[in-house]
Amino acid sequence: MTPANGVTRHCRVCNAEIAPFMSFGRMPIANGFLKPEEAATEYFFELAPAFCDSCGMFQLMEQPRPEKMFHEQYAFYSSTSRYMQAHFEAFAHAVINNAIAGRDDPFVVELGSNDGIMLRHFRQCGLRHLGVEPSANVAEVARSQSINTVSAFFDRKLADDIVAEHGRADAILAANVMCHIPDLPGVGAGVQRLLKPDGVFIFEDPYLGDMIAKSSYDQIYDEHVFMFSATSVQRAFAPFELEVVDVMPQITHGGSMRYALAPVGSRPVLKNVGAQLAKEAALGLDRPETYLRFKANCESSRAALMQTLERLRAQGKRVVGYGATSKSTTVTNYCGITSGHVEFISDTTPIKQGRLSPGAHIPVRPYDEFVKKYPDYALLFAWNHAAEIREKETGFIAAGGRWIVYVPEVAIVA
Ligand SMILES: [Zn+2]
Repeated sequence: MTPANGVTRHCRVCNAEIAPFMSFGRMPIANGFLKPEEAATEYFFELAPAFCDSCGMFQLMEQPRPEKMFHEQYAFYSSTSRYMQAHFEAFAHAVINNAIAGRDDPFVVELGSNDGIMLRHFRQCGLRHLGVEPSANVAEVARSQSINTVSAFFDRKLADDIVAEHGRADAILAANVMCHIPDLPGVGAGVQRLLKPDGVFIFEDPYLGDMIAKSSYDQIYDEHVFMFSATSVQRAFAPFELEVVDVMPQITHGGSMRYALAPVGSRPVLKNVGAQLAKEAALGLDRPETYLRFKANCESSRAALMQTLERLRAQGKRVVGYGATSKSTTVTNYCGITSGHVEFISDTTPIKQGRLSPGAHIPVRPYDEFVKKYPDYALLFAWNHAAEIREKETGFIAAGGRWIVYVPEVAIVA
């Protein structure tokens, strides 16, 4: 069997032999922002993605063990983002008004429920709910707001325990969680046991099709052990007698997909599922050549970005990074961006300020320092929030500042 974490030579879903189609090189933990004294003992692994020819799953060959990735001090609370609050409110109401509408005393389970950002809407409607959240301190935040939450990892055993205590679920939900779990078959088996025969399993994650189309390789980092497509999701859950009955594209995280799955034959399969599968075949998501082309696109993107940064450095221009995101770790380390290219990275998250970016060791400074003395150029690491950011930073542009972007192509824009 494939180990849940660590290095694998076999597909984490179907167990076929796999090999990486490229390597992004030695990579640190994407969200591992360091205190200066921690820089000498930093942990690295090889970031190498593979495409499984047998089941079409895009995955990492190596995933650092969870104790390396999830430090308590970096606990991420979903509800700090107003934008995500609105997104999850809409997600919850879509489930309440459609998936479980008209049911007698429905029961909803969310995997990776974080601080209850989505489940609070079920609680407000007086609906039976249970969150499963492995991070104890994050689960505690949800419980303090009367959102029922168990602090555990979801698997077959926990599914049986939940059924024994609460009965089976009408809906199982997950957002930006499934792509983090290396033992996907374990979750599939758990969902199969927990879901009612007429229940629905709805989850969303960053979408492989968007990543390939935009060459947004910064979606690839330690936490994202999988990048899903409708094709690979369909195949991964087939052994658990679940089928994709609906797909709903989302604009979050630079392009995501929401999948609805149900026990085979229990619900009509909507027309857009077939259309999505056809679109993926046309995009070549099920073919190895597509990933070799993606690799070539990553290499040209890196060359173009470094050429731009080297030119600006030669001209003596000031460049500051905008947003100390997990995604930026892949970009800085893969491209070889240093504090010689980017003076510092501006970020509003207090815990990251005064720290060094993982691997590249670029200082992270408060947002005020960006505003106090605008740089000539800002490298937009938080590109998935480009619309909001460009609206907010009209002062920067008015002062003559320009953005450096790299998705879908390297460019300097106002
Ligand atoms: Zn496979």
